[in-house]
Amino acid sequence: MKLTSLIRPSFFKAIIVIAIVFATQLTCSAWGRLGHCTVQEIAIRHLTPEAKAVIDSYGGLRPEDSFWMDIVSKDPKYKAALAGWHAAIATPDCKSPVEIREQYRKSRDGVTAMEYFREYLKDYRNLPDSVVIESIWCIVHIVGDFHCPAHVRYTDDINEGKFPVVFFGEEARLHDVWDSGLIQHESGLNWKQYSEYADRLDIWKKRQIRKTQKGWAREWFEDAAKDVRPVVGTVKSGDELGSEWAQDQISLAELELRKAGYQLAAALNEIFGK
Ligand SMILES: [Zn+2]
Repeated sequence: MKLTSLIRPSFFKAIIVIAIVFATQLTCSAWGRLGHCTVQEIAIRHLTPEAKAVIDSYGGLRPEDSFWMDIVSKDPKYKAALAGWHAAIATPDCKSPVEIREQYRKSRDGVTAMEYFREYLKDYRNLPDSVVIESIWCIVHIVGDFHCPAHVRYTDDINEGKFPVVFFGEEARLHDVWDSGLIQHESGLNWKQYSEYADRLDIWKKRQIRKTQKGWAREWFEDAAKDVRPVVGTVKSGDELGSEWAQDQISLAELELRKAGYQLAAALNEIFGK
């Protein structure tokens, strides 16, 4: 049994009805490979021994698992089941209650997906391995995507950034600059150097980590929505973005990668650490 079979049973019933409507909506790869691998690596370093042992018993987490959802996003087998999970929606005051998710995205969003996974995986010991493994890959990716600025949607501003800018003299879309251009440029790392990036970013003290880990998906995404809100609408089509802009924004991008890593650890510890 594969994850796609999840769209048949009870709690995915609502999802399948509206999946087709939203299937084409979000296929961008937030954070790119460097970002997702780094988030996953930070999380691995903060797993409890219990959670780590369970995840290892399912084969552990390979770097490519963190961007599996992007790889299969256009695969007909997964497209409908995973549609919409790469982004989430908040009000202008950065709240993401269930009614807003239903109204604006028919509950096809990362927060709702994470709420499903939390419930569904309570019974993970009785689920087929392949379902558990693909669910883990989804969780890893979704928590990362929560924090990618171009994937934080607001009811008054879709904030997709799908317009052209000039990034260090090269034409690019703002969306892609946020997804991968900025962190690659400023870190000077390629995606296979994610471990080095994790070394640089995983610097918070225990108290700060515990604070950012509080709550579950909604709190985590709302936290990201608050961080991202000040930059919404600050770049216009055709703007030239060079070192001044990049140096200003990299601290936001890296703050979000770091929070995503710690929160992902919290999610996996909660599900598999008991
Ligand atoms: Zn994604």
